Amino acid sequence: MVIQPKIRGFICTTAHPEGCAAHVQEQIDFVKAKGSIANGPKNVLVIGSSTGYGLASRITATFGAGAKTLGIFFEKEGSPNKPGTAGWYNTVAFEQAANAAGLWNKHINGDAFSDEVKQQALQVIKAEMGKIDLVVYSLASPRRKDPKSGEVYSSVLKPIGQAYTVKNLNTSSRTIDQVSVEPASDEEIANTVKVMGGEDWELWLQALQEADVLAEGCQTVAYTYIGKQLTWPIYGKATIGRAKEDLDRAANAISSQLAGLNGQARVTSLKALVTQASSAIPIMPLYISLLYKVMKEEGTHEGCIEQINRLFRDNIYSSTPTLDEQGRYRVDGYELDDSIQAKVEALWQQVDTDSIDSLTDYQGYQAEFLRLFGFGLAGVDYQAESNPDLKLANLVG
Ligand code: NAD
Repeated sequence: MVIQPKIRGFICTTAHPEGCAAHVQEQIDFVKAKGSIANGPKNVLVIGSSTGYGLASRITATFGAGAKTLGIFFEKEGSPNKPGTAGWYNTVAFEQAANAAGLWNKHINGDAFSDEVKQQALQVIKAEMGKIDLVVYSLASPRRKDPKSGEVYSSVLKPIGQAYTVKNLNTSSRTIDQVSVEPASDEEIANTVKVMGGEDWELWLQALQEADVLAEGCQTVAYTYIGKQLTWPIYGKATIGRAKEDLDRAANAISSQLAGLNGQARVTSLKALVTQASSAIPIMPLYISLLYKVMKEEGTHEGCIEQINRLFRDNIYSSTPTLDEQGRYRVDGYELDDSIQAKVEALWQQVDTDSIDSLTDYQGYQAEFLRLFGFGLAGVDYQAESNPDLKLANLVG
């Protein structure tokens, strides 16, 4: 079938197999061009490995360090007349490239919050991988089923304490309007922490340690966004920020747990980027469109693969990492530079519907959004017939 983008709100309901493959290949080429990572990881578990920052982490571990990787994700396979999700096609392309390079890789498609998926992962690690020396936790999910009680918790993107009205780039009508968000209730705050906080990261590390599959010196990272004043009311100081604060608590607990192995857990703060997760957050389309404009002009713009490349080479596997006072890796320095933030804020005040194209990089935002689903990649014939029914050879189960 000929596959075209179908956009509904902040998601695209189709994905292009060859386009996703081209997107993955660009990232592989980027990592390979940087050469191998000295003392890099050997056996890596990536939880949330099919898109965004988790995919970039898997590609960096594999093609930068020659690591074996087990990837966990929640994606839909295509059928002969219906495309699957981008994360499925990304993984097909990743698998083909890793197989061609002779690098072991397997994947589990299921709910990473569940005990079943954790048990499946432990079995594969024991049988085929050897001890894990890096665990990347890169889940972004709107809900979580508690594995013990079976209760389903949903996260919300709301301010805490007071309602918040803010300028907004309405991506459906391509206008600048305003959004008002009511403050979260205590229950909504607690539920968001339950979904996006550190509890599941801890459960993974506990399960891995109990099964004795963690290597001496094992590292684990979980990804966060900290941001500054412009995004704090709806992110950093809002429900999602509260959940992310819980990652700091979890990092300390996991580091204590790993002390006997000389292991370490660190939260890692990354740059705001267009991904499937971030496009759902109010104000992010406007903030990111302005940020891209300013950072591209300054020559400091980066995507997922550039960020994760620096995380691995300059932080996790470096003797001189950039750590903040909480012990987090910081890869968000260029974005949070005061002069960048001041320029973004000045444009934020000025922008209106007529000046979207001149004052923001909304065109760049849109192009990158489409690329997440495999559309707009150079060298891909989008008029040609495409087979959506691609299989994963290394899928567990
Ligand atoms: P994403 O939506 O691109 O990726 C999410 C991944 O989680 C996918 O692989 C998806 O399949 C997987 N997933 C979701 N629910 C799952 C489940 N129940 N079981 C198994 N897999 C599941 O998101 P992203 O933007 O790459 O975000 C990853 C992490 O990075 C998040 O913690 C996010 O907060 C953080 N982060 C994102 C940004 C940003 O701007 N995008 C910035 C800083 C930090």
